[in-house]
Amino acid sequence: MNKTLSEVIADILIHNGAVIEKKDDGCLEFLATETLADKLGLPDYGRLRFGYNDSSGDAISATYDSELFKAMAKLLKGKGEFSVASFESSCPNTGKLLKNLNETIVLNNAAFRLEKSETKEISYLLCYFKYTAISDEKREGIAQVLINELNLSAIPFEDGLPGLEDSGEGSAGIERQDIETVFRSSYSAGVEMVKERLKDFVRSLERRLNRDIRRVHEYYEILKNEAGIAIEKKTASTGDRRVREEEIERQLKKKINAIETECKWKVQDLITKYSLNIQIEPLSIIRIETQSPVLWINIRRRLASRSFPVTYNPLIKELDALPCELCFNPKKPYFICDNKLHIICSTCFKICPDCGKQYCGACHINGCPKCGNKIKSGRK
Ligand SMILES: [Zn+2]
Ligand SMILES: [Zn+2]
Ligand SMILES: [Zn+2]
Repeated sequence: MNKTLSEVIADILIHNGAVIEKKDDGCLEFLATETLADKLGLPDYGRLRFGYNDSSGDAISATYDSELFKAMAKLLKGKGEFSVASFESSCPNTGKLLKNLNETIVLNNAAFRLEKSETKEISYLLCYFKYTAISDEKREGIAQVLINELNLSAIPFEDGLPGLEDSGEGSAGIERQDIETVFRSSYSAGVEMVKERLKDFVRSLERRLNRDIRRVHEYYEILKNEAGIAIEKKTASTGDRRVREEEIERQLKKKINAIETECKWKVQDLITKYSLNIQIEPLSIIRIETQSPVLWINIRRRLASRSFPVTYNPLIKELDALPCELCFNPKKPYFICDNKLHIICSTCFKICPDCGKQYCGACHINGCPKCGNKIKSGRK
């Protein structure tokens, strides 16, 4: 499923006007326009290599830490913030879509009905993020997020770039959320998608952490026993039994306190060592404008209702799933919150561990509203 670095770089270069040919040795041969070559500090023609120690002669390095890779982020500048392309869609008939609507939209605590359907100009952002996940080891890669700018539905987009037409500045008047909201949502989705992609790595980190903590505890248990024996020996010459026992207890208490403090620090060190820090940064963003059927649904929860656009995604030829308005990488089924009628996925519709109340994570970012319980590390 995951695309290789060379495939992603080929996509981005082709989209920016280069001609690419894949060679048998894994290199990419490129022919770049003058503007592109200038931006990336490349010659007009050459070869790119993706391995660290291969002997591809004069090929230019395109690994994650290469100059070229860093320069790719510059493609975001220049043409406004990103490049705009249009996608010629073939819209399916609305009757079929309506049939799929009930399968796509599963709300656990609310009802919905179709209000109206229309064909509309819509747009998506295809965001290429470079991710770096650092723990005791480092993992790097590229995550591609396709996000709908009207309703913020996001998916990991692993397919190749569809046939896009460069459309310059793009067309005015397309209804969409403001770019900051869209980008923040795609970023959140990107981080969640990377966590999912690295779940084996995360599991292995947890396994190693638990193993090491167990070892540390075993080690300090032994230390405590040894300390007891040593103190007994040291006080052996004390005459009075009661005085001796009091002295043993005093010394032992002091020693055990010191050992336990040290043990706590060691465990804390291990938690830091194995904690996973994920950073993502945008590498390239393409806005894709297209035309598509939009099904406006009316979501009803108790006495309140909310109108929401469900979109057909011509790039994947399916209806877009509903977004989760907290994590943007939803796990079905969905819930609708009481206050603001947020659409929230089952992971983000939290149950407070203390009082058992279920609440909306988008309304209450700081934790359970009933017991004011602060959630330390945000979403789990
Ligand atoms: Zn969620
Ligand atoms: Zn609570
Ligand atoms: Zn809410």
